[in-house]
Parts: sequence; C-alpha cells; structure tokens
Amino acid sequence: MNLQPPKAPAQPDEQRGLVCPGCGCQHFWVVYTRASWGGRILRRRECRHCGRRITTFEQSTERPR
Ligand SMILES: [Zn+2]
Repeated sequence: MNLQPPKAPAQPDEQRGLVCPGCGCQHFWVVYTRASWGGRILRRRECRHCGRRITTFEQSTERPR
C-alpha cells in the first residue's frame, strides 16, 4: 500500500495572509495564472464563498542583489 496525501503547495494562501475583502475568509481558487512583466506572476483568484475576485502579483524569481 502506498497511500500518500497530495503534496501541499509550498506557500498556501493562508500563509500569505491573503484575505477576501468581501467576506474575510481565506479560501480561494485560482481562476488562471499567467506570467506578467518584470518576472512576476499574475494570479486571478475567486473566493469560494462570496465569489469576490481578486488579482495578485507574485515575484516568481529571486531578486538580484
Ligand atoms: Zn469571500
């Protein structure tokens, strides 16, 4: 038997402090992800509870010194 739980993402939304501005929950699903300018990642998220959509930008690469 080899029952392993699915791997958790490296940075769950809960640990980023991402909170829905509509209902205050932290449960989102990602509508889509795309690369943006400046080496950033644009993520479109939708709240599972109230349907509020938010857009986040994330730095995908390590910053040069
Ligand atoms: Zn919400």
